[in-house]
Amino acid sequence: MFSKKTITDVDVNKKRVLVRVDFNVPLKGDEVADDTRIRAALPTINYLLEHDAAVILCSHLGRPKGKPDVELTLRPVAEHLAELLDEPVAFASDCIGPVAEEAAHELGFGEVLVLENTRFHPGEKGNDPEMARQLASLADLYVMDAFGSAHRAHASTEGISNYLPAVAGFLMEKEIQYLGQVISDPQKPFIAILGGAKVSDKIGVIRNLLAKTDFILIGGGMANTFFKAQGYPVGDSLVEDEALDTARELLQVAGSRLRLPVDVVIAKRFDNDAESKVIAMAPVPEGWRILDIGPETVAAYDKVLHDARTIVWNGPMGVFEFPKFAMGTFGVAEAVAESEAASIVGGGDSVAAINQSGLQDRITHISTGGGASLEMMEGKVLPGIAALEDK
Ligand code: ADP
Ligand code: MG
Repeated sequence: MFSKKTITDVDVNKKRVLVRVDFNVPLKGDEVADDTRIRAALPTINYLLEHDAAVILCSHLGRPKGKPDVELTLRPVAEHLAELLDEPVAFASDCIGPVAEEAAHELGFGEVLVLENTRFHPGEKGNDPEMARQLASLADLYVMDAFGSAHRAHASTEGISNYLPAVAGFLMEKEIQYLGQVISDPQKPFIAILGGAKVSDKIGVIRNLLAKTDFILIGGGMANTFFKAQGYPVGDSLVEDEALDTARELLQVAGSRLRLPVDVVIAKRFDNDAESKVIAMAPVPEGWRILDIGPETVAAYDKVLHDARTIVWNGPMGVFEFPKFAMGTFGVAEAVAESEAASIVGGGDSVAAINQSGLQDRITHISTGGGASLEMMEGKVLPGIAALEDK
């Protein structure tokens, strides 16, 4: 069913292969907090090493503003990868230019090099042809294995395929086959759960998901934006004002199929030790902020999830990184795990939360893509996939 060429359709032996991976992993200080996405890239990396390719890996990490940011270096990720592979991994402190060219040139066959964060250059998000050309100049073949970034037409995910033969890696193939299967014929009731912090990025998918799903359960920062759109004061809560118009419109068209939290946990500061309390959803007092959904909401969502046959979840219900505000996310995770539904959880932080809850084995499919799986579900063609060579 997968119509694109993969690494098994081309000769990789003694080739320099640039692999776009999704190493956009949650960090805690300079340690990798959850390595699901790194492990997910191992089948492709190992295949290339076994076939004596020189493996050059590139990825973005977080949201640097088109310039270097010491907090968002991929160096700790390269170190973590070296531990997983039990082999040395070289690192280049830039992804293009002389530093990258020299490192790629010195790399032997059967060896691995990680390039620095592609988003340290504005050309990445701008899909600058010159940046794409420079990246391409490092290799003979391009492999797209960053499913989590395939919905973005960036220099390293899309532009580069104008300059090199481009094929898919194993992770890409696996994700697309699984998601494609579920999406083409979802068992009903089909429930989507949406939360997290990247509200303006994800709020648009709700419109299309409404056509496919029976209910959409909202939590996390996404909920705050809806509350504000309803006219509630939300105190110091995370809100993306540019998404308010969309939120208002969605509230109108969705009616009761869009479910919002009925209670929330509010806190005085963004801190695990902050003073906190549960309130029924009403105006948030000034000086307070919403950091989690409340127990009544978890119970209400649990009811809906109990009868579901298909569940798709992206975005934590609260700031689960603080144990005090993790109950909403873990409670919903429990409900998803308990349900008989085929369940897909996607997104870097969502997957980290599921792993922390210890319930990962009771989820049908842990997807490395959050936004990407949502856009696939909407029926959109992902640019990072479209750019690959057909079989
Ligand atoms: P994913 O990585 O799964 O796609 P996002 O990156 O969109 O998800 O969002 C994850 C982040 O959202 C987490 O770091 C979490 O702390 C944050 N978050 C969830 N709820 C809130 C909230 N109420 N206020 C602020 N941040 C929140
Ligand atoms: Mg995230």
